[in-house]
Amino acid sequence: MRKQRTLREPIKAAGIGLHTGKKVEIQLDPADVNHGVVFYRADKNIYIEAKSENVVDTTLATTLGKNSVVIKTVEHLLSALYGLHVDNVLVTVWGDEVPIMDGSSAPWVYLIKTAGIIEQDAYKKEIIIKKPVKIKEDGKFVALLPSRNFEIHYSIHFDNTFIGKQKIALVINEHTFVKEISKARTFGFVKDIEYLQAHNLALGGSLDNAIVVDEYGIVNEDPLRYEDEFVRHKVLDAIGDLSIIGYDIKAKYLAYKSGHDLNRKLILKLLEDKDAFEVVGNPYREKLVGSFVWSAFEGEK
Ligand SMILES: [Zn+2]
Repeated sequence: MRKQRTLREPIKAAGIGLHTGKKVEIQLDPADVNHGVVFYRADKNIYIEAKSENVVDTTLATTLGKNSVVIKTVEHLLSALYGLHVDNVLVTVWGDEVPIMDGSSAPWVYLIKTAGIIEQDAYKKEIIIKKPVKIKEDGKFVALLPSRNFEIHYSIHFDNTFIGKQKIALVINEHTFVKEISKARTFGFVKDIEYLQAHNLALGGSLDNAIVVDEYGIVNEDPLRYEDEFVRHKVLDAIGDLSIIGYDIKAKYLAYKSGHDLNRKLILKLLEDKDAFEVVGNPYREKLVGSFVWSAFEGEK
């Protein structure tokens, strides 16, 4: 079990919102222990905690909201915060969307590492899975199974010959997150992008912040950052989505063609079933209980 962490210095950034296409300013500030990740819509004076009950929409991206005030596209930032174990932070946004940056978590990783991370005087609680929780829906599948580590096993199968089938399995820690996952960009298909933009969606989407794919390959001039960048981005999204559980995750997450919607349903199903998980808060408690039982047992002899 590790200590909670926050930023050493505030971070200021600005970028384009993927859906609105407008410039958005954002600031990340250090916060006290047990604060968690909280968003603040500065223009509406509303705080929105990154918690499962505040996930209000999962079409195209994960949207948090409260009292009809929303913050869209939070998952790449949440993924970077979880991946680097930054537990307590206040994220102020002057607009309704987190800037898309380059479509991955790499710019957030860079900014967070530049600001620095400090350890705080409290332990980070862990969630342990005690029995499997699964959801199957429309040929898609997602599950959380017991494990000592946070492991992700992800497969995708796209009806596109360039992407096709991809799968990856890895244990998520700070090192693997930064090296294997954080740089993977979001992606879209030429036909979908034309449709979305005709309906005033993904207005900020461009080759600077997404891999764009047609039947023959990628439209972008720069090469892929990983050979299987597509499935790695799905892992990046899943980490961001799962991070709203609010604890360090000790589980094996399995996914076949999953997405934000199925991830949200999985978290709700898990948290509804009190027999399926346990939250562990204090590393000394287990030891104390253990030694107490032992001395009681000895006393009976
Ligand atoms: Zn994404």
